[in-house]
Amino acid sequence: MPENFIGPVDLMEPEEKVEGILRSARDRIPGIAAAIRERRESLPEGSNSLPFRIGGSFFRLLTTSVYPTHKKLHATERCNGCGICSRICPTRNITVSDSTVTWGSDCTWCYACIHWCPQEAVEIGRRTIGKRRYHHPDVTVKDMIRQTGE
Ligand code: SF4
Ligand code: SF4
Repeated sequence: MPENFIGPVDLMEPEEKVEGILRSARDRIPGIAAAIRERRESLPEGSNSLPFRIGGSFFRLLTTSVYPTHKKLHATERCNGCGICSRICPTRNITVSDSTVTWGSDCTWCYACIHWCPQEAVEIGRRTIGKRRYHHPDVTVKDMIRQTGE
């Protein structure tokens, strides 16, 4: 899948690469979907490798201690209180009330709230300002809401 990691460091895939990545992934999706449906344990390629494990530990340290992403998430004045971020968050970590959006600490750094906000109003500190947002072209807001069990 194209990388959607937008902060604290920007690892987003260049836009011109996205279609090629999606094209080459399509053949593998049925097998992956079957593994999920059957609840089969299956580690991603490379996940046992030392660089992957070191990278994962570094990532956790970065997003929890060095730069605590969940404390930096906020909505700007562009927010219109639509509530989509709250409805798509897989951990129900976002509350929208009286057009005020608040984030709790139960964040998995999936970045759905950032990439799906229709107003591009969600930012992580100042690091994401002006950066391109991305989500899969075939996935809809309804799909995202459905995955939360709503
Ligand atoms: S999705 Fe965006 S515009 Fe809608 S409530 Fe959340 S931050 Fe505000
Ligand atoms: S990054 Fe993902 S888990 Fe964290 S608050 Fe946003 S939608 Fe929820």
